[in-house]
Amino acid sequence: MGKKIGIVVDDDFSSQHQPPYPRPTFFSYESPLRMISIMNYMNKLGIFNNENIIKLSPKSIDDSTLKLAHSQYYIDLIKRFSESGHGILGDDVFIDKDSLALAKKAVGGAIEAIESVIDGKVNQSFALIRPPGHHASKDNASGLCIFNNIANSILYLREKRQFYKKIAIIDIDDHFGDGISRYFYNDPNTLYFSVHEYDFLDGDLGYITELGEGNGLGRNINFPLPINTTDEDFLEFMDILTPILINFNPDLIICAIGFDMHFSDQIGNCLLTSKSYYQFTTQLLALSEQICEGKLSFILEGGYNLIALPICVNAVIRALLYEKFYTHRFEDIDFSNFNNKQKIIRIKNNLKNLLKDFWLIEY
Ligand SMILES: [Zn+2]
Repeated sequence: MGKKIGIVVDDDFSSQHQPPYPRPTFFSYESPLRMISIMNYMNKLGIFNNENIIKLSPKSIDDSTLKLAHSQYYIDLIKRFSESGHGILGDDVFIDKDSLALAKKAVGGAIEAIESVIDGKVNQSFALIRPPGHHASKDNASGLCIFNNIANSILYLREKRQFYKKIAIIDIDDHFGDGISRYFYNDPNTLYFSVHEYDFLDGDLGYITELGEGNGLGRNINFPLPINTTDEDFLEFMDILTPILINFNPDLIICAIGFDMHFSDQIGNCLLTSKSYYQFTTQLLALSEQICEGKLSFILEGGYNLIALPICVNAVIRALLYEKFYTHRFEDIDFSNFNNKQKIIRIKNNLKNLLKDFWLIEY
């Protein structure tokens, strides 16, 4: 019996919650095409025929679970918009007739992925779900997200399963997961570590000085990266993350994985290839094996280029399977002109200095 990797899938993610019109606006990047391209590639590679891969289905949940993370008013609002068949929330989240059902299914998908790991049904898991969740907050849709899939999953574990153990969330989507950060900002048992593009045009959040509050002080850690960060420099944050994870000693690690730092992504401005996602997963997996018996669950967030997205998903799965992985030939581009090493080391040293009262970090 080898290891088991659970992958949460559902056909509805490939067909429902359609953008209002097929034009290349911000809305239309978050479309069923994302999941169609992932599933086509997974099937072409025969991933689901692999004896170490187990297909999982989203857990079906009711409104009482959604209410752990969202207000009744907000849930009713999404319901009303879905029933009317259309709507725009804020300036960047569309709603169609299926949106409530699919956003709920995405929460159920994240819960299934995480519960399967906790219960030992699988060693690690990956929830291939949409819409993404890490920007959503109690009363607000934001940044293509409707419900906060990860925050809702953790609150479900805490409230409905009395799982009070320590949980670490590592978020490497291109954008700062402001929604997740806010849910757990003063929670000493939920550590949030975000690596994101240093792009403060929109959110004005995600600075290194946002360290949490009250009992959660030192347990919200932001590692912003400059635009044009390449594979060469991406993993510098591991020098901070590794000792913190070892010291925090969580019982479960959840990774909010977005692939929008890929060089081809329409929304992100970084220059990664799938190599970074493979290397990151390899390192995080080894850490989870050292710390918490490999209890590690990946939850899909962003990633919008339809060619890069499935390749990056495959990079994560190959790393989880301890298999070799090679970047795709379309990624064979020389980015050596973009050197951000000094900037990133400065960020790293400043962050280390801010964290010295909370964690012992040496590198
Ligand atoms: Zn993103």
